[in-house]
Amino acid sequence: KYGRTFNFSAGPAMMPEEVLEEIAAEVMNYRGSGMSVMEMSHRSKVYQEIIDQAEADLRSLMGIPENYKVLFIQGGGTVQFAMVAMNLLKDGVACYVETGAWSKKAIAEAKKFGDVKVVASSKDENFSYVPDCSDLDIPENCDYVYICENETINGTTFNKLPNAKGKVLISDQSSMFLSRPCNVSDYGLIWAGVQKNVGPAGMSVVIIREDLLNDNLAPTTPVYLDYKTHADSGSMYNTPNCWAIYCCGKVFAYLLKNGGLSAMEQRNIEKAAILYDYLDASKLFTATVRKEDRSLMNVPFVTPSAEQDADVVKATKTAGFDNLKGHKSVGGLRASIYNAMPKEGVEALVAFLKQYEAEHC
Ligand code: PMP
Repeated sequence: KYGRTFNFSAGPAMMPEEVLEEIAAEVMNYRGSGMSVMEMSHRSKVYQEIIDQAEADLRSLMGIPENYKVLFIQGGGTVQFAMVAMNLLKDGVACYVETGAWSKKAIAEAKKFGDVKVVASSKDENFSYVPDCSDLDIPENCDYVYICENETINGTTFNKLPNAKGKVLISDQSSMFLSRPCNVSDYGLIWAGVQKNVGPAGMSVVIIREDLLNDNLAPTTPVYLDYKTHADSGSMYNTPNCWAIYCCGKVFAYLLKNGGLSAMEQRNIEKAAILYDYLDASKLFTATVRKEDRSLMNVPFVTPSAEQDADVVKATKTAGFDNLKGHKSVGGLRASIYNAMPKEGVEALVAFLKQYEAEHC
């Protein structure tokens, strides 16, 4: 009814229509406050209720234990690459699993702050699978083991967490956050840029076990980049990203109302199967990732040639689908089908690809 397109962007990405409608209804006057949340003091009672409710809803969605802090930190995912290392890489070594573009960026950033060891990699096959992490060579002085749990560009996902051998596990969940149930106590720290599966860009949610908050950071550490700053002030040390927190809170509430993370997982499995089943049967398209490691969120696929890839992308655009061009490191196409992508969107895309295949093969 709004002329909206099926938007397959890797992020920023679709948000649930019902949530956007609620936000639109509140934009002129938030619940009698006489102003929008964009215009509201973050120190006001009405805003405090918004952030408290957002945190409470996220805690109940994910079952976050009491000894974990939930932080809303500005700056998006890239800031977390540095923050993780600045806060948690001490005199030991940080162990990274290299599975694609976003773990590579995390590795490069961490190297600025200390010793980094890549303990497993899927580089040998252009990051099209997740390496075996059941028996990693983790040194005794390891400060943490780091994974990118869903590689947005490469389209892989960890279906089994690494055996971190008792060391702290840290996960970048940006592109799979809230897409399936998560046992928070398996991790020391989870972080996620919110612009894929939750809300507007420019913020990350960080879930950190309290004992990992570090009192002994280098004195040159900027105050904003110390997790403790945020933990001690309820994410209100300075003006937070009020608008993003509000929108994320709406999505948390929406997810709770719609069956929580198990229901999301069920939906996401069904949605992804529609696309993968077609790709596996197709004579024109090939899904690039090994079956057991395929992401339910980001689905890269290719035709036999770059020219044909470009032609399909152009045709999808003409047909009213958006943002299907693959990242240049993988080529081809990529459909990002986060929580908010309706099943009808995936069905329509598959119907279109089928027709294209029939006409061109
Ligand atoms: N990690 C992952 C898995 C991502 O997909 C992205 C962004 N696409 C980032 C980190 C970086 O996030 P940002 O662009 O917010 O810095």
